[in-house]
Amino acid sequence: MANYETQLVSLVVPFYNESDALQSFFTRVLPILESIPATHFEIVCINDGSTDDTLPRLVEMARRDARIRVIDLTRNFGKEAALTAGIDEAAGDAVIPIDADLQDPPELIPTLVLRWRQGADVVLAQRARRTSDSLLKRVTAAAYYRVHNHLSDLKIPENVGDFRLMDRAVVNALKQLPERHRFMKGLFAWVGFHTVTVQYERMPRAAGKSKFSGWRLWNLALEGITSFSSVPLRSWTYLGTFIAMLAFCYGMYIVARTLILGVDVPGYASVLSLLLFFGGVQLIGLGVVGEYIGRIYDEAKGRPIYLVKRRYQERRPHGRAAGNGRVISLVAGKRN
Ligand code: UDP
Ligand code: MG
Repeated sequence: MANYETQLVSLVVPFYNESDALQSFFTRVLPILESIPATHFEIVCINDGSTDDTLPRLVEMARRDARIRVIDLTRNFGKEAALTAGIDEAAGDAVIPIDADLQDPPELIPTLVLRWRQGADVVLAQRARRTSDSLLKRVTAAAYYRVHNHLSDLKIPENVGDFRLMDRAVVNALKQLPERHRFMKGLFAWVGFHTVTVQYERMPRAAGKSKFSGWRLWNLALEGITSFSSVPLRSWTYLGTFIAMLAFCYGMYIVARTLILGVDVPGYASVLSLLLFFGGVQLIGLGVVGEYIGRIYDEAKGRPIYLVKRRYQERRPHGRAAGNGRVISLVAGKRN
């Protein structure tokens, strides 16, 4: 990494109804990026089906500044898909996904770049404290990391979001992962590489409001576990074996007792409660299996992760960018 002049750093920013936060994002980020010595940069903005005026405002920014590119998706595909689109489109030697709401402090970017130049492939930004989150979010997040890392062979680092720097080699590795269910934190961890961590303080949202309700977070949590662990599926084998063994022992006992003491008719209540109990257990098991089958079904359909409606770009920055200027096309998100 001798010649910094030729290095390009890509910032990947998903935007979903971020009209309020948009202006302050660029006014804060641009001077910081410009202050990094001997680097070109591009900002790849993904408009993830915003319903407000995020898109026209982004396009206006891109029109005035050639370093800003806008990728407009055909609808809202969700943050993970938007990030995937941005990472696919980014042309940089290093790629940094960052939230548009300034919760990931852009002031950290020079440090990320510095550590990268010192030889790291991945520079993780880890939240020192989650003071900006509610107590409930903190407790559930901590519990989630514990459950996930317990169930899965792949340990995801705690309190690390999508904000990080990845070398081109890491990005290329990431682009080889074909799955449609994209739990980005897990995928980032899965590819490995030489990783260093820097700490930061997470800020409250600059403007606008969070797009992740409790229900969406719960689904994200399910996604994480089912993407990286088959323990919930396998555990039914053990639970089933255990119950069968108990039932066998109880059966032996009943047979022996009947042989010695004779037939004994009452027992309606215990039979009924056992029946209902095991009915319930079986349904839970079916539900868990269903979670996985649903995902297999989605993967088997092999639909693209996102669709690009249009790319907006003033001109090719430094002749390095992937797309042409002002292409009007409907292109499936390409996967290797
Ligand atoms: N986002 C997106 N698509 C979505 C939801 C969110 O692109 O369907 C973007 C959003 O614009 C922001 C980032 O993902 O840049 C993080 O979203 P948010 O701040 O709402 O999440 P939180 O910080 O509350 O986890
Ligand atoms: Mg946020």
